[in-house]
Amino acid sequence: MSSLVNVLLILLHLSTSVRGHHGCGGGEIMRRNLGGKLIERTSPTDEASAAAIQDITQECTPYSYAPLLQLAPLYPTTWETASILPNDTDALALFQQISQTISSNPSFNLAPKGTPEGDFSAVQYNGTDVDCWWPWQGCTQPAPQTGLPDDITSVPEGETWGLGFDDGPNCSHNALYDFLLEQNQKATVFYIGSNVYDWPLQSMRAIKDGHHVCVHTWSHQYMTAFTNDVAFAELYYARQIIKDILGVTPLCWRPPYGNVDNRIRAIAEGLNLTTIIWSDDTNDWKVGDPTVNVTEADVNAAYQIVVKGATNGTYKSTGPVVLNHELNNFTMSEFIKEYPSMKSAFTHIVPMAAAMNWTHPYVEQNIVYPDFAAYIGGQTNVTIGPSITSSASASKTSTPGIQSGSASVSGGSNSTAGEKNKEGQGSGAIRFTINWNLLYLLLFAFVL
Ligand SMILES: [Zn+2]
Repeated sequence: MSSLVNVLLILLHLSTSVRGHHGCGGGEIMRRNLGGKLIERTSPTDEASAAAIQDITQECTPYSYAPLLQLAPLYPTTWETASILPNDTDALALFQQISQTISSNPSFNLAPKGTPEGDFSAVQYNGTDVDCWWPWQGCTQPAPQTGLPDDITSVPEGETWGLGFDDGPNCSHNALYDFLLEQNQKATVFYIGSNVYDWPLQSMRAIKDGHHVCVHTWSHQYMTAFTNDVAFAELYYARQIIKDILGVTPLCWRPPYGNVDNRIRAIAEGLNLTTIIWSDDTNDWKVGDPTVNVTEADVNAAYQIVVKGATNGTYKSTGPVVLNHELNNFTMSEFIKEYPSMKSAFTHIVPMAAAMNWTHPYVEQNIVYPDFAAYIGGQTNVTIGPSITSSASASKTSTPGIQSGSASVSGGSNSTAGEKNKEGQGSGAIRFTINWNLLYLLLFAFVL
């Protein structure tokens, strides 16, 4: 009898805690280092031990992370289209507000376009581009009457490279992050929610190393294809997993494939997420895609076009925001290879937070990033003050710094995995979680 109960309990545990990959939205992501069953390995157990691994195979061997197993019931399935969970009252309440804004404004109340996989062949679109649909003609400036801010496509400082990496955390990013650390170079990282879920310890390294984290949706698909509630969920749960695992609530996002229009921008605005596109593409993500013939030489050339721009006057008054990826080992090693020439050509290479003078790039106001002047002056570290209550209206710009009692991020992790308060959003209700591991231990003890 007891063995039967044990088997049933094991099956129950597996069914509730193991989250495997189920494929993903685009060819770009299909080539990343896939994860698998999170229960397969019990180490590493913390950010530092994960960051110390040098072997790529070991880095990308799935592991279990207890706080995440507890959070599993609060999230959609990884790599599948997100939807608002029926019992998520905070998400439902916030979506209700945003939904009213969308439906009451003709500029936002637009029909979805295309498929989540990026097939737009059936889309009948008006050539005047009133929706400011980026894939159409690269629109990044919504009409003034929409009240929407322009997308960010450049940095306001001349001869300055706005540095960012999309699609992380990549399980094998230690070599890249080690390199950035050696160079005292911070970056903005656009994290996919499902990747944060799959590789929580790798994602925590971004905060430990002082990088700037933005949202890159839950499942990395074409956002304009989704209905309002799904587009909301794609942003909401990506932002929330970053909060739960990294302890910060981002205020910026990048649409996968640049696929955004005014409806999606308005939903992002409702979540306090500023839209960041790019001015230049290294095309690193295209190498290895059998549908296009892009080679390493093409990527080198694309990098060098941007590098030359630093000497031919292209970036005299504003700097580029360049599309780089931590998508796979090629894209990461390509950046490392090109970095010396970038560094010698550009006066500054800075993360988006520093470039935009976002000293408070998260809802959590006690986390202070250096502004541009401080960053280029050599003060690249993030400071973390005493935790304070934050508000939904938290601004990215120049709120008074809270420097007292600050400590370097590198001196102590700010990770708050398992934290259940939703700072800055909704009612502040505590999210309901079940400590399955503890429950099973108790049940086993009882049965045995
Ligand atoms: Zn991407």
